[in-house]
Amino acid sequence: MTETEVQRQKEIQQAEELLFAGAQALGFAKGLFQGHFVSDWVMPYPRIPAAQQTELDKTLAELREFLDAKLDPVAIDREADIPREVIDGLGRVGVLGMTAPKGFGGCGFTQMANCKVLEEIGSRCGSTSVFVNAHHSIGIRALILFGTNEQKQTWLPKLVTGEWLGAFALTEKEAGSDAANVQMHARPSEDGSHFILNGEKRYITNAAIARVLTVMARTPVPGSDKTAITAFLVTPDMPGFEMLEPRMPKMGIRGTATGRFALRDVKVPKENILGPPGKGLKVALTVLDFGRTTFGACCTGAAKTCLRLATQHANTRKQFNKTLGNFHLVKKKIARMAADAYAMEAMTTMTASLIDRGLEDYMLETAMLKVFTTERLWEAINDAFQIHGGSAYFLDLPLERMVRDARINQIGEGSNEVLTSFIALVGMRGPGMEFKEIYDTMLKPSRAGIGRAWTAGMHRLGATVRIPDVPVRSAELKSFANQLGRLIWRFNFAVNRALIAYREPILDLQLVQERIAGAAMDLFASTCVLSRLDAETQFGQRNGESPASKNYAAELFLRQSFRRIRGFLAGLSDNDDKALLAAANLVLG
Ligand SMILES: Cc1cc2nc3c(=O)[nH]c(=O)nc-3n(C[C@H](O)[C@H](O)[C@H](O)COP(=O)(O)OP(=O)(O)OC[C@H]3O[C@@H](n4cnc5c(N)ncnc54)[C@H](O)[C@@H]3O)c2cc1C
Repeated sequence: MTETEVQRQKEIQQAEELLFAGAQALGFAKGLFQGHFVSDWVMPYPRIPAAQQTELDKTLAELREFLDAKLDPVAIDREADIPREVIDGLGRVGVLGMTAPKGFGGCGFTQMANCKVLEEIGSRCGSTSVFVNAHHSIGIRALILFGTNEQKQTWLPKLVTGEWLGAFALTEKEAGSDAANVQMHARPSEDGSHFILNGEKRYITNAAIARVLTVMARTPVPGSDKTAITAFLVTPDMPGFEMLEPRMPKMGIRGTATGRFALRDVKVPKENILGPPGKGLKVALTVLDFGRTTFGACCTGAAKTCLRLATQHANTRKQFNKTLGNFHLVKKKIARMAADAYAMEAMTTMTASLIDRGLEDYMLETAMLKVFTTERLWEAINDAFQIHGGSAYFLDLPLERMVRDARINQIGEGSNEVLTSFIALVGMRGPGMEFKEIYDTMLKPSRAGIGRAWTAGMHRLGATVRIPDVPVRSAELKSFANQLGRLIWRFNFAVNRALIAYREPILDLQLVQERIAGAAMDLFASTCVLSRLDAETQFGQRNGESPASKNYAAELFLRQSFRRIRGFLAGLSDNDDKALLAAANLVLG
């Protein structure tokens, strides 16, 4: 085997161990790749239970009052700092421990309710929403999910009030997108009582203001010469903790403290290990699933702000003796923003509800949510900016800050390119394994193999002949539901064809992956929109609303999303990939 092949096999084995250990119920997104519409996860549209909705409404009212009075996004950006008064206030409202168990002082909110809170903050200030995410969605998440009772008792009560702040430290110079390549290492002491950590971390939000950091470091695997990543709780008062740069000057989300630090022979007690030793990468990926969900919520909030600002301006600014909203090219932007904001909210709510309802494996949905909402927000900001013309360029409007703040979203917590590839490959793994079973049996027939290959073949064939049923309750949405079912069928057919045509080299064909992931994301987004629209239509009918009161934005989203899906699928056979790669290769040399 060549060096590249050895590396490939290593990566495949690592991914298999990390992502696919143990049997799990078929989730919605994985079902799409197999040609199924797993309706139980997505229909009817999830609702927050009445008792929690009352609690959430109270919290949101309190939060809005506090933010109206104390949050000044302009000053936060200008001073490159979130004042302690704001952090304390967020703590008082409960934001900094929203999903932590009540027993440790948290609010015990579901992820769905938490997302509503983050949407509110995201609609106002990029810095504050990233700060809250860094502390609550990822900083203290590993402790909540994997901490022992004792660890939680020790750390959580002060973290959930904001008296102490948390951070999540994975990224290093050599471990950016390639998160598994962590170089910081942790050597066990001779008596086994502690680990000695050495290495550097960079780009860590809250690093300089956190009292507790979840740090990923490489530990030896006992009985072998291998190493694996382990999660540790580290505090900056530990001797050898050196803050190299507390606040790296930066373009956007300037209020957050993004830092660089070194650990030099830092002794960390073994009691500070979070989760099983050697399973830190799994811990990190699980934590990031939560971060990506609240990312979606913050982007939804920001997109709604774009829509509000753009609408206000389009209704007041006159040129050519008309308000801007009269021009079709402005209407196009406003309508798309409204459609996308509706979809972003639906997708966030649905993804959060999957976590709340105990779906074990939601990594595809959270990755889709993150890519979809960050890309849609970027477009919404660009459109709102364009509608404002020259005025958007000046500092008295929030749009130039929103552009700067939003740019990190497509890079942080897994760049959108890496996640796009991840969505396609993880999604295709299910049908891919079934094809492998069939190929392997054709090459080396055995009695057991033939049985498995037969089952796999029947699965593939079953999905190929059946158009999945999309069970909406509202008669007026049946046509959309039928179209969605047919597109899922076509998508499954395209996935099968790509797997048969390319086999293992598909692992490198990112242009093919991008189309498959793009179609899958839009299928998921359309499903969330249809489910939400169905619930709203039913509610409207029960309350005697006129059938004429259509939700045009939601319907527009479905039309545009279906059109994009058809485009992605058509692009699998009609594209310029060869010319594109040749041009890039020539330039890259
Ligand atoms: C403001 C800010 C706050 C952050 N906060 C935190 C934090 O709190 N904790 C933490 O651990 N990290 C944090 N990060 C780090 C962040 O998660 C990384 O920047 C991100 O994972 C990308 O890594 P990188 O910057 O090294 O880019 P690289 O890995 O060098 O990637 C650069 C670009 O290359 C492309 N690329 C890379 N790999 C592939 C691939 N396989 N296929 C196709 N294209 C690819 C992508 O376009 C990517 O954007 C933060 C970063 C910033 C800027």
